[in-house]
Amino acid sequence: MLYENNKALGDKVKHTRSARTLEADATRNGKRLNERKARGIALSKIFYAQAEKIENENLALKMKKRAGRIYGCCSHREIAINSERYAYTLHTHRCKDRNCVECQRVRAFVLQEKIRAITPSLIERTDKSDGLIFGTLTIKNPHINELKDYLKLMSRAFARLMTRKKLKGVVRGGFRCFEVTRGNIKDHCHPHIHFLLQIA
Ligand SMILES: [Zn+2]
Repeated sequence: MLYENNKALGDKVKHTRSARTLEADATRNGKRLNERKARGIALSKIFYAQAEKIENENLALKMKKRAGRIYGCCSHREIAINSERYAYTLHTHRCKDRNCVECQRVRAFVLQEKIRAITPSLIERTDKSDGLIFGTLTIKNPHINELKDYLKLMSRAFARLMTRKKLKGVVRGGFRCFEVTRGNIKDHCHPHIHFLLQIA
């Protein structure tokens, strides 16, 4: 089993300083891939450090395993480089963690493509004069420990906004998703809701 030896895995997360990286000059997007992987490793270290503070052994072990999964995500890539020196990933192992930098990048791309594909025909089917509104709603930099509460709050606030009479009359439907970024302020984050609404 890959994760049976948790101690060894933990040591790996703890002591790794840098990942074995793609030669940045060989490809146009190599630098970006390396940066993303480095961010993933930094995240796994944060999870591991948090796990060491947890008193409940089971929970701590669970979190260490999670750190290990994020750490190992996309560690090995089979890559094809085209004539324009652009590297395409043919095959890799992904952890599918909701906070993983690599996996969320893929998820965002898949969602983007799905929305792009269905939107025109959706509007055609309902009413050609319909329009789309894209917007972003945000809360100013809460502390990272309060993120869970803030996400709940924002989710509820958005649902309430959608029940407002004026909006209800014109909104046919839409899509909303959360994005959380890290600003420059230590231990603070920047949650926001992106939404796309079909308006009559
Ligand atoms: Zn991942």
